[in-house]
Amino acid sequence: MKRRLAWAFIALACILLVACAKAAYTNRNQFMLVSEGQEVALGLQSAQEVLKKEKESTDQLQVARVQRIGNRIAAAANKPDYKWEFHVIEKDTVNAFCLPGGKVFVYTGIMELTTSNDELAAVMGHEIAHALLRHGGERMSAAMAAQAGGQIGSIALGASAGSGASQVFGQLYGIGAQVGVLLPHSRAQESEADEVGMILAAKAGYEPSGALSLWRKMDAYSKSKGQNVPGFMSTHPTTTDRIAAIKAKMGGIRTKYYQQAELR
Ligand SMILES: [Zn+2]
Repeated sequence: MKRRLAWAFIALACILLVACAKAAYTNRNQFMLVSEGQEVALGLQSAQEVLKKEKESTDQLQVARVQRIGNRIAAAANKPDYKWEFHVIEKDTVNAFCLPGGKVFVYTGIMELTTSNDELAAVMGHEIAHALLRHGGERMSAAMAAQAGGQIGSIALGASAGSGASQVFGQLYGIGAQVGVLLPHSRAQESEADEVGMILAAKAGYEPSGALSLWRKMDAYSKSKGQNVPGFMSTHPTTTDRIAAIKAKMGGIRTKYYQQAELR
């Protein structure tokens, strides 16, 4: 009996250890039942599936543009354990996403809308921020906690994380019939990705006002489309609140990060 109690304490300690994480830059407490390694492994698997199903652009100028901006933002993110890759997908949908581990996909449909490099940097900064802040792992944890109930202990201990985790991951990242159709992030994650995305883009040398013109454009574009909201927008609810929050943070980020980048 005593031995069982001891094991229960060890299990609880492990759960608490795994479940506590802090978001980069904002220091927000995160509930995390998956390790970063698990999340990254699933991201790599999914990236291969996306590349199997989607057609990569052969437009060398477009590819070079995305890779140049992406590499600069990745350098600013300072996450050398991620194996960054930047892919342009030939598809007329307004979409972009970054899988855990640093595989970034930008669709030609969103590139046509983002006429300036500052705007494209805002798109990529935002998506890279979601990965860097481990928003995928956080969403997986919430879904696993809701689904698994009593099995949480064994998942946290890594005993049976394999299939359960990859199933939840597939649901969240829309891997399967329709790749790139992600489940929406929470409002808190969205505003956090806006803020950290602007910081990363500014550190990489892109004007933070790119985020403002991007979301104004997205807002106008989605209104013109009515119910037929494109992928990027369906996972990113645009509201006047969001644009106001970007405006409020822009000046501080410009002074602290963009002007510093300019001085280097
Ligand atoms: Zn987002």
